[in-house]
Amino acid sequence: MSALDGRLFVGVDVGGSSVKAVVTDDARNVLSQVQLPTDASDANALLTSAATAVDRVLDDVGDAKTVAGIGIGVPGQVDPATGVVRMAMNLNIGDEGVPIGTSIADRFEVDTTVENDVRAAAVGAFEALQPRTPDLHTLVYLSIGTGVSAGVVVGGELFRGRDGLAGEIGHVVVDEDGPECACGLRGCLEAVVAGPALRAMWPSVDGKHARDLYRAAAAGDATAAAAAHRLTVRLTETVQWLAIAYGADLLVMGGGVGSLGEPLLSPIRDRLSAFADRSELAGRMVPPDRVVAMPTGHPTGAIGAAVLARERLGDGRAGSKGGQEARTAATGSDGGGST
Ligand SMILES: [Zn+2]
Repeated sequence: MSALDGRLFVGVDVGGSSVKAVVTDDARNVLSQVQLPTDASDANALLTSAATAVDRVLDDVGDAKTVAGIGIGVPGQVDPATGVVRMAMNLNIGDEGVPIGTSIADRFEVDTTVENDVRAAAVGAFEALQPRTPDLHTLVYLSIGTGVSAGVVVGGELFRGRDGLAGEIGHVVVDEDGPECACGLRGCLEAVVAGPALRAMWPSVDGKHARDLYRAAAAGDATAAAAAHRLTVRLTETVQWLAIAYGADLLVMGGGVGSLGEPLLSPIRDRLSAFADRSELAGRMVPPDRVVAMPTGHPTGAIGAAVLARERLGDGRAGSKGGQEARTAATGSDGGGST
C-alpha cells in the first residue's frame, strides 16, 4: 500500500492551439480526458485556459478532493524549481516568463509540477509503450509539428540535461542557405522540415500540409513525391542521429506531423531498411522496426505530465530517484483531502 492509493493525478498539455487534460488513477488508468482551444492572447488568458481544462476534466470524474498532484507540460524553457515557463513563442511568452506552476498550484491547492511539453510527452510515450516493449530502457521521442524537438527517457527517468534542454534539436542549423527560422538563425532543422516549411511545400485547406503532401505523393503527383522524399531524407537523418546518440531501444515520433502514421513512417523505415541491407552495423544501430509513431489524438503529453506529477510525490517507476531538481517544482498547500 502507498499513501497515494486511491488518489488521482491530473496531466495538462498546453499547446499553441489546444489544451489537453487527463485524469489518471493511482494504477495509471486514464479516467477522463478533455481538449479545449488555447487562448494565448496574454498570460492571464493562457493561465485561464489551463485552469479551465483542469476544471473540466475534474468535473468528469466528480471528486476533485482526491487529486494528489497536477502535472503541466508547456512549450518553451521551463524551470521545474519555480514552475516558470519562458521563451514559448507560440504562446506569446517571452523572457519575462509566466509562473504557470504557482498559478495552478494556488488555484487548486494541489502539488503542481511543470515540464517542457515535449519532455513530458517523452515520459507519456514511455508510459504508453513500456507494457508492450518488455526490454524498453531508452526511449527517444521526436516531436514534429509546428516545431521540432525531442525528449529522452533513460531507464524510466526523464533525461533533462543542462537547463532541461536535452533533445532541443529543432534549432540545429542544417542548411545555412535555408529559410529563416523564428529563432533568428537560417536553415534550422525545424525551419526546413516543420511549420512554415511544410506550408511552403504543399497547400492545405485545413492546415494539414504534411498529410495532404503525402496524399498527393501517393496519388502520383511528381512535385509532391519529390518534396515528400526531401522530407523523408531529412527526417531519417534526424532519426538516425537521435537513435544512435542515445542508443535508443525505441525512437517514437509524435506531434501533429509525427503522428501522421504510416504515410510518414513507412518511407523512413524503408530508407533505414535499405541502409540495413547494405550494412549490418547500420541495421543493428537503428533497426527499422524500432522506429514507431504515437497514434493521432493520443494524449501523450498530458499523460506524461500526470506521470511526472505522480513521480514527484514518490510513486515513480522502478529506478526513479526522488530529490532531483525536476521534482522540486512549484508546490501549493496540499489541500487534497484524505487518502
Ligand atoms: Zn531556429
